[in-house]
Amino acid sequence: MKTISYTPPPFTMENVVDWSGIWVQRRWDNQMQLRCPFCEDRKAHLNVNLTKGVFRCSRCGMGGGPLQFWAALQHKTTREAYKDLCERAGQSLSGKSRPRKNESAMPPAAAVPAQAPIQSPEKLDAAYRGLLDQLILGEIHTEKLLARGLLEQDLERLQYRSVPMGATDDIVANLLRQGIDLEGVPGFYRDPYSGDWRLDVRGSGILVPDRDAHGWIEALQVRMDDTSAGKFLNFTSADRNHGTQTSCCPHFAGVVPGMSSVLVTEGVMKADVARSLSVQLGRPLALVGLTGVANFGQFRRAIGELQQMQIPKVYLAFDMDAAVNENVRRARDKVMEMGAAAGLEMALLSWDPAYKGIDDLLLADLQNMKKSA
Ligand SMILES: [Zn+2]
Repeated sequence: MKTISYTPPPFTMENVVDWSGIWVQRRWDNQMQLRCPFCEDRKAHLNVNLTKGVFRCSRCGMGGGPLQFWAALQHKTTREAYKDLCERAGQSLSGKSRPRKNESAMPPAAAVPAQAPIQSPEKLDAAYRGLLDQLILGEIHTEKLLARGLLEQDLERLQYRSVPMGATDDIVANLLRQGIDLEGVPGFYRDPYSGDWRLDVRGSGILVPDRDAHGWIEALQVRMDDTSAGKFLNFTSADRNHGTQTSCCPHFAGVVPGMSSVLVTEGVMKADVARSLSVQLGRPLALVGLTGVANFGQFRRAIGELQQMQIPKVYLAFDMDAAVNENVRRARDKVMEMGAAAGLEMALLSWDPAYKGIDDLLLADLQNMKKSA
């Protein structure tokens, strides 16, 4: 009998990012956020998970392991990239020497804290509503949202809140007193020493509820005040003790079963803003917001939900940078194909690229309407 032994490659995702020279905008726990070198990314849309050794850009959808990263960056085949990386790691491919233990590599999997599987949508909704009920929306955040075109009543109805920046022990204690189970709710974790539940606050910003087709809040996003690591981050407790990775859902805004069509756009907040503006304009739109143009798994779920709701037509209303960026355009084309293959009638919306998003376009329309009134 022959035994096959697996030798890990002598380089890690972290080494490869390091060697690429790309500036890391933000780093926390086992993750990094950097500007994506594969699309015309001006923020930091590329997420690197060092525990899993993978990267993914939420803007263009590019993703993979260290080999794919290096190959794409250097315009090489993965075979060439492997050889190149081994050389950089001071390894010779021809020799049978065992790879030297890489000192900057992440600790083995056993050192990663226990993660809890995610709760059902109903339970997530109960926990997030319980959390949002205890929070307020600060004045600066309120002003920012009103400037985007949302109304005061939208902010209350949608339960937009500011991330709490002070002590949060009372908030957590209140949730537990209400009998809410925090195990498996992204954003909550157990203190590794005391075992007490904690809220995982990773920066200030606006909490944006991501609501599924039933109206359940399945996830929260954070519109960050400091956008150097990206405008929107998930509210998560990934890589924490008894923490949970967030799973965002297609966000439904004003969608009712049996309607003739919906608009699919990118972004939870964008969908909410566009919905409100369209109502104010007197021509209400129903929107489904995806978190990222290349979030194909999420779009697949949306297809199933739209079919269940007997909605036959989708207008794709992605940001107009698809007109100039190859990767964004490719992601858009794939979404069009997926929808058509599933039997949905797909149509592409485009407008004056001076207005980037559908929300920008509607806001300009509303301002014009008010001017001429
Ligand atoms: Zn990208």
